[in-house]
Parts: sequence; C-alpha cells; structure tokens
Amino acid sequence: MLDAVIVGGGPNGLTAAITLASAGKRVMVLEAGPTVGGGARTAELTLPGIRHDVCSAVHPLGIGSPVLSALPLSQHGLAWAHPPVAMAHPLDGGRAGVLTRDLDETVDGLGSDGAPWRATFGSVAARWNDSVRLALAAPLAALRTPIAGARFGRLALQPATMLVRRFSTPEGRALVAGIAAHAAAPLSTVGTAGVALTLGAAAHTVGWPVAVGGSGAITEAMAAHLVSLGGEIRTDATVTTWSDLPEARVIVFDTGPAAAAAILGDRLSRYSRRAYRRFRHGPGVFKLDVALDGPIPWANASCRLAGTVHVGGTYEEITAAERAVAAGEHPERPFVISSQPLVADPGRAPQGTHVLWAYCHVPARSRLNMTERIFDQFERFAPGFRDRVVAVSARGPAELEADNANLVGGDITGGALSVRGLMARPSLFRPYKAGRGAFICSSSTPPGAGVHGMCGWHAARAALRELG
Ligand SMILES: Cc1cc2nc3c(=O)[nH]c(=O)nc-3n(C[C@H](O)[C@H](O)[C@H](O)COP(=O)(O)OP(=O)(O)OC[C@H]3O[C@@H](n4cnc5c(N)ncnc54)[C@H](O)[C@@H]3O)c2cc1C
Repeated sequence: MLDAVIVGGGPNGLTAAITLASAGKRVMVLEAGPTVGGGARTAELTLPGIRHDVCSAVHPLGIGSPVLSALPLSQHGLAWAHPPVAMAHPLDGGRAGVLTRDLDETVDGLGSDGAPWRATFGSVAARWNDSVRLALAAPLAALRTPIAGARFGRLALQPATMLVRRFSTPEGRALVAGIAAHAAAPLSTVGTAGVALTLGAAAHTVGWPVAVGGSGAITEAMAAHLVSLGGEIRTDATVTTWSDLPEARVIVFDTGPAAAAAILGDRLSRYSRRAYRRFRHGPGVFKLDVALDGPIPWANASCRLAGTVHVGGTYEEITAAERAVAAGEHPERPFVISSQPLVADPGRAPQGTHVLWAYCHVPARSRLNMTERIFDQFERFAPGFRDRVVAVSARGPAELEADNANLVGGDITGGALSVRGLMARPSLFRPYKAGRGAFICSSSTPPGAGVHGMCGWHAARAALRELG
C-alpha cells in the first residue's frame, strides 16, 4: 500500500510529494494534465520554436522560497536568469518608475520618493528573513516571533492605499500600486500592502528572475527530483471520485477546496465542510501570449531592459481598474502585468523574434475578449507595438479553467484576498487538514498564491504527523 497519494502535480503537489518521499514514504502523484507543472509550465502557444510560459513567468517567491531553495533543483536543470531591471512601470510622456535589484539605484531613480522607498521597502528587505518567513509561514506563526511579527504585520496588514500615502511622486505611487495589484483585489483591501512589501522587498534581496528555458523548468526539475527519491508520477490521471484513488494511508489534494470536498464526500470533516462552503474565489484573469518580430518599442529606455513591466498608468488609474473588476466591470484601461522573458533568457525564441506574456484582471467567469484593450495600453506606452505583433494566443477564465481545474472562474490566486481569505484559508485552525487521512496543499491554503511550494511543504508536514 502507498503511504500517500497526491492529487495534482502543481508546484505545491510536487513539494508535498518530495517532502513525504524525503521522509521515506511511498508516494504517488496523480495529475490530470498530460504533464505535471500546473501553474508552472512552458509550451509553444503561438508559433513553433517560441516557448511561452503557460501560467507563471516571474519568480521572486520561487528563488526566495525557503523550501525550493533548499532542494537540489539545479542538479535537475533549473537555473535562474535575472533581467537588468526587475520591473519598470511606464507613465505617459516617456517617464517610468524603475525597480532594480540594487536598492541605491532604485532610491536614486525615485527622486524625492527615494527616502520613503528606502525607509519602507529597504527596511523590509534588510529584515528579509523575518519578513519572508512570516509571509510564507503557516497562519498564526507570527505569534511565535511577536516582535518581528508585530513590526512587519503592522505595515503588511494595511491596505495599499495607506502605504501609497508615504509616496508623493507619480513614479513612486505607481510602483507601489502596481506591485500591490498582484493581490487581485481593490487596493483598499487589508493585506494588499503586505503583497507590495513582500514582492517589493524581494526585488532588493532575491530578485525577480525567470527560469532559464521557461517556468516549466522549475516543475520539471521538481518532478525529476521526486522520481530520484522513488516517487511515482502518473499523468492524464484525473481524479473525480474516491474510487479513482489507489489505496493509500493519506490523500493530499493539490486542488481547490470544492474539488477536494467533491472527491472526499462524507470523508470530509464537519469542520472543513463548513469552512469550504464559505470559501470564496477571487476575480478571473484574461491572459495573452504574444509572438513579436522584435522587442517592444517602449518610449522609456528602462522598460526595454525590464523583465516585468506594469502597464496601467498612474496610481489613480490602477486603483480605478482594480475597483472596477471587483464591482464586476471590465475596465476600459485595464492594469496589465506583463513580462518580456527574453530580456533575461534570450534562448526561448529564435533570433529576431520576441515573446510577451501579459494578463489583466477581469470579473470571475468573464467572457469578454480583452485583447484590444490590453493592446491599447501597450500602444500607449510603446507606440508602434501593434506593428510588431506576429501571433497571439488569448485565453479568458473559461479556457484557463479548462486547462487547469484549480483556476476556478479564472482565479489564479487560489482564493480571494480578503480578511476571511487571509485568516481562514480555507479554514482558521486546521488549514491543511480536510478529514481523517485527508489533507489539502494547494494555493487555497497559507501562504497562498505563487510558485514557492510552501503550501505543499506545510501540508506534507501535517500529513507526516499523522503517518508517524
Ligand atoms: C496566468 C497565471 C500567471 C501567474 N503568474 C505567476 C508568476 O508570475 N509568479 C508566481 O509565482 N506565480 C504565478 N502564478 C500563480 C502560480 O502559478 C500558482 O499560485 C501556483 O502554480 C499554485 O500551485 P499549486 O500547486 O497550488 O496549484 P496548480 O499549479 O494550479 O497545480 C494544480 C495541479 O493539479 C491538477 N489537478 C487539479 N484537479 C485535479 C484532479 N481532480 N485530478 C488530478 N489532477 C488535478 C491540475 O491539472 C494542476 O496541474 C500565476 C498563475 C497563472 C494562472
């Protein structure tokens, strides 16, 4: 009999499997798709020879993950590549806020906002181990390190709208707003400052790298490591009912709470059933992968060197766009998170061609094609952009969910960021336990979205306590 079956081979499922296999347990991963990887895969989505990141593209949380960084993934082919500029945020008139790995350089570029940037992001970066441990730890872990917890928590639990008040230039305010908007929630939501602080400080410590060859290299290396530990992986193996599962002492679900509940049926504990019923997903995304016949003609020179470019204009515009999505509307001028991976990793496409990865938030289950609105935003800051476009792959919430059942309604964050979504993810006291012999390890558990594997690690440790 197997010790553990893991349903789903995303970064968290693979981390759970590796953690259990490292402890000497017999482990099998069942993955619905034709390959493992979930939210970290790479494929030729537009033209032959051009490799696009199907979901995740930029990995501050991957390189900064205490668990992933401790695995021998480089022995299985994983290498990180850093762009010259971590992130740039263009504004009208050829201006831009620029975030680099070098704190002094970022501070110098921000003029009068340099000092508040150093005091805010620089000080979190200086205590990176405290802040990242807190951001990635299980809920209530901050209580174990009360002083560091209180210091970081006081800032992080704020809405980003409060954090932005420390800054006065359009560049500084737009930088903070753009990073906070990764939360996929209105910037007035508690905890959005924490997203900005974690990702902003990461730029000055671990950087915002891409994986050489594409994000699939991360999960391919994890899968290879798992197999080297004796773990087994079965692909094209969708689990829909309990009878699809081989006999095992524990089952670990790298799925959303609703999918786990449907498979577990009466095996789901009463406590988890109540919590899962109240669980809410976030908005959807509309994703574009574009092949171009040359680099994007950004008006601002720093944008041409940036791995990530936040395309949405001023703080006020980003706030309005994210508020509109939360109200069920499609912003005329969406806030677009984009990556140009070839700036750091030129080998992904034949010479002369370029790759753009971009998405904007849309209401859950939206059916509207946002391609033209996204292209308008690029044309605004990079005149001549449209002329460079050679091929486009566009996917809305329905296509994303069809590709990966965890992206419920197009939600890429594994659950809404809200007070409840922060504290009870998916339940307050036993977030990883679903029932006797059943655990959940997806990004619907703490610490939430991102390719960091921490949810899988926490869940596997809970499972190991039961396995003995
Ligand atoms: C468009 C997009 C952009 C993103 N950008 C970034 C980024 O730049 N950086 C970053 O760090 N993160 C990013 N993310 C988020 C990141 O991809 C996720 O947070 C992360 O992949 C979550 O890992 P997971 O293992 O919890 O779930 P997933 O990665 O979603 O994996 C779940 C796996 O389980 C499988 N599965 C589901 N149900 C079943 C079933 N019933 N039976 C068998 N298998 C099943 C799925 O097929 C999938 O392979 C992005 C996500 C998306 C979609």
